[in-house]
Amino acid sequence: MGRIGVIGGGLGGLAAACVLAARGHPVTLFEKNDWLGGKAAEWKQDGFRFDMGPTIMTVPGVLARIYAEAGRRMEDVLDLRRLDPQWRCFFDDGSVLDLREDVAAMRAGLDAYSPGNADGYRDFIALSARLHDISERFFFWKSVEDLRDTIDMRKNMDLATLSDILALRMGTTVAGTIRRRVRDTRVAQMLDHFVQYVGSSPYGAPAVLCGIAHMQTAEGVWYPIGGTRAVPEALAALAADLGVELRLGADVARITTEGGRASGVELADGERVPLAAVVSNMDSVRTMRELIGGAPQEGFARRWKREPACSGVVLYLGLDRAYDHLLHHDFVFSRDPAEEFDYIYNKGEPAPDPTCYIAAPARTEPGVAPPGGEALYILVHTPYLRPHHDWSRMLPAYRRVIFDKLARCAGMADLESRIRVERVLTPQDIHDRYRVLDGAIYGLASHGRFFGAFKPGNRSRDLPGLYLAGGAAHPGAGMPMVMMSGWIAADALHADLTANDARRSA
Ligand SMILES: Cc1cc2nc3c(=O)[nH]c(=O)nc-3n(C[C@H](O)[C@H](O)[C@H](O)COP(=O)(O)OP(=O)(O)OC[C@H]3O[C@@H](n4cnc5c(N)ncnc54)[C@H](O)[C@@H]3O)c2cc1C
Repeated sequence: MGRIGVIGGGLGGLAAACVLAARGHPVTLFEKNDWLGGKAAEWKQDGFRFDMGPTIMTVPGVLARIYAEAGRRMEDVLDLRRLDPQWRCFFDDGSVLDLREDVAAMRAGLDAYSPGNADGYRDFIALSARLHDISERFFFWKSVEDLRDTIDMRKNMDLATLSDILALRMGTTVAGTIRRRVRDTRVAQMLDHFVQYVGSSPYGAPAVLCGIAHMQTAEGVWYPIGGTRAVPEALAALAADLGVELRLGADVARITTEGGRASGVELADGERVPLAAVVSNMDSVRTMRELIGGAPQEGFARRWKREPACSGVVLYLGLDRAYDHLLHHDFVFSRDPAEEFDYIYNKGEPAPDPTCYIAAPARTEPGVAPPGGEALYILVHTPYLRPHHDWSRMLPAYRRVIFDKLARCAGMADLESRIRVERVLTPQDIHDRYRVLDGAIYGLASHGRFFGAFKPGNRSRDLPGLYLAGGAAHPGAGMPMVMMSGWIAADALHADLTANDARRSA
């Protein structure tokens, strides 16, 4: 069997490498950084430990399926804790609402918080369950780039499929779908935020993405002991165990082609590695632009004119105190979601009154901070990088906006004085560290009332022998989705090589 190359050791690249190796392929993974896991990185300082990227882990079944490929059990390597309530929500009016996993418990909470909204919430979750189910059947676990890849109009068009298509509510947005069911603006704002998992505006994202809510309420929010960082560490160990050659500090400068198909990679230092096929875990737009070019890039660019998803500022604060009123995951919401999303996604400027997401992991794993302290993580979504954005200049004022917001709305007036260690990640840092598109955290924005959920397919239509995995490929961003994209890329590649071998020996 020819050797397969994987460019990038993010969660998508690691998942692809593990699945390919489990299916018997020799694999080399090239990662430009000196760590594996990409955005799922960590920072340790003076007894504090921080996950630097993802903190909310959902749909662990995807990771379990990757382990199953190798005949192993995820539960044997990861100590996963289920968190319920899933989020604590602080609103601008001073009120607090916990998001409960169980729909009946959530309805009871809503009855007390905002009478008259419990039925709307139940209806929203029921719709979300339907949309999640449709996604499982038509979008997930296979390479999809457009409608043709999901539904074969001639073969499958029956009444059940037609009813599924109608249920997608094509032409309506996430925000509109929520507000038709839930009247309380605060509850609607909380539900809007599921689509922040893919860095997109609820006013621009298609209704099908309401399915994200059910993925979380049905399958839970999980914390692996050791942090989300434990996930790439476990996958890297699995890859090594399966014989994957893991090359750190290996920066791929070009994908080479021969006879119109991907035939290898060339590293920045000039080394050439011949390969039978290539999986790129680098951002899909930048893969095509920077590693390939020519006709394949032109074809790709004609189909994919999507804007990048949002970026963000993260503050990692090692504190000498804990805030007992916080849960593990907290949202401190903006005063006005329409204004906030307009700034981030239309005006392209940081929101004047942003939503702050807070992770306080010492609630679940006290060892992340010295006794009595907290390793606080604060994420604020910002626009993707524009040419005039200079975050070395913008950061001090925006840091102040964040601290003022937390003092006013989350009871953290003394926060700044309790800091013992501090580090910041800006959109520019995200851009440089992970080589993404204009600092985007979540790949390509899912904007478009009809086709916003589609992403570049995992089996490249532009260059045979190239497969795409990661947040800027199908099915999109977030821990479970990028691991699924790695699985799909590996599965498609394996199927193609197996079919070629069968043709050759026939
Ligand atoms: C601050 C932040 C918070 C987040 N919060 C959450 C969350 O709570 N829950 C959640 O599910 N998701 C969250 N996410 C999103 C999630 O982290 C990502 O969707 C996911 O980790 C991306 O994985 P990926 O496989 O696309 O690759 P990445 O993590 O982007 O990794 C790609 C890798 O490829 C390498 N690379 C790129 N080009 C080359 C090249 N030419 N040669 C060699 N190597 C190359 C890069 O160095 C990098 O290591 C968050 C992300 C960030 C940044």
